[in-house]
Amino acid sequence: MRRRWTVLAPVAALAALGSTWASAQTRPEDTEVHAPVPVIVTPGEASGAPPSDAVVLFDGAGLDEWVSVRDQGPAGWAIVDGALEVRLSAGNIETRRRFGSYQLHIEWRVPEGVTGRGQLRGNSGLFLASTGPGDAGYELQILDPFENPTYVNGQAASVYKQAPPLVNAGRPPGRWQVYDVVWTAPRFAADGRLEAPARVTAFHNGVLVQNNTELKGPTRFIGAPQYTPHGRSPIKLQAHAGGGPVSFRNIWVRPLD
Ligand code: MG
Repeated sequence: MRRRWTVLAPVAALAALGSTWASAQTRPEDTEVHAPVPVIVTPGEASGAPPSDAVVLFDGAGLDEWVSVRDQGPAGWAIVDGALEVRLSAGNIETRRRFGSYQLHIEWRVPEGVTGRGQLRGNSGLFLASTGPGDAGYELQILDPFENPTYVNGQAASVYKQAPPLVNAGRPPGRWQVYDVVWTAPRFAADGRLEAPARVTAFHNGVLVQNNTELKGPTRFIGAPQYTPHGRSPIKLQAHAGGGPVSFRNIWVRPLD
């Protein structure tokens, strides 16, 4: 009997404390939070326009925010009618700035009359964090999504070779398409150990296609992905030989850390 009381006494004490705390909250005001007050951000006038706190990465005027991945010199893609068009010979381009976690808006278009099939039709890519030269990084696939069968974890809006999109919300070639992305960068301990994997939520033309998807590491074309520690990273766009050229417009980002 004594033994049983010893075990139960702390539990009973805790329960009593809990009920005291709960019963102290008697008014609606007790559970209101008044500070800190969220900062005011003015949304863009039109849907998809950059809000007041966004970093505009491309608005049709120039490529100041971008560099060549190959030599960190000027980004050698073309601006045609206010849109940024891939130039294969110039290779991948990436942002001058480095980012951790962020919200990103980007619009892209596969040209009307594009030829080829599967991965060779309107292929580009949005590397959510560039972790090195070439295609190193975490790729959200850009590809002609319209009547263009391919492996599903390689179709448009897939986390390439890791996660197919929940649905195919794509438009035909020649039409502008939108990705809205929330990227949570991976976290590493000082000794390089992975503390928290990367996560991505994405909307394709306003439709949810990746829902807080956990990444297994940077994209690997062959073999299983694996994390290697990295810090803040550029955002990168892919110059792919597979049918195009793909164009981009209205690119902006809101850093979240
Ligand atoms: Mg690609």
